[in-house]
Amino acid sequence: MKIALIAHDRKKDHLVQFVIAYRHIFEEHDLFATGTTGQRIMDETGLDITLLRSGPLGGDQQIGAMIANNDMDMVFFFRDPLTAQPHEPDVTALIRLCDLYHIPLATNMGTAEILLKGLDAGLVDWRLIQERRQ
Ligand code: PGA
Repeated sequence: MKIALIAHDRKKDHLVQFVIAYRHIFEEHDLFATGTTGQRIMDETGLDITLLRSGPLGGDQQIGAMIANNDMDMVFFFRDPLTAQPHEPDVTALIRLCDLYHIPLATNMGTAEILLKGLDAGLVDWRLIQERRQ
């Protein structure tokens, strides 16, 4: 599965801790991340991650393009609900595309844990079913 990792600045520590805690699951998948988030996770976990642009410089849109191209399976996007983002339209667009293409999206640690454990338990196989139908 292709997994995208994004965290706003005040949520980066949370996402790093989350990936450290569940490294054994993440390491079985293809990881992509916006620039600053991905670099931090790589530095602190040693995981191999494809780095895209920083979010405010277009990274969210790059992930959105992957979703539109049926090239992304799951998104972990730890948003900061208390800080205005210069690239808010990109954030909204990314979430919209997740909804449009039925991409599982976690925007906080609580949902993220359930989503990742569901993935590990083999509960997220609708995309495989969809592939077989195409
Ligand atoms: P960043 O981007 O990982 O480059 O900080 C995240 C974002 O703000 O969308």
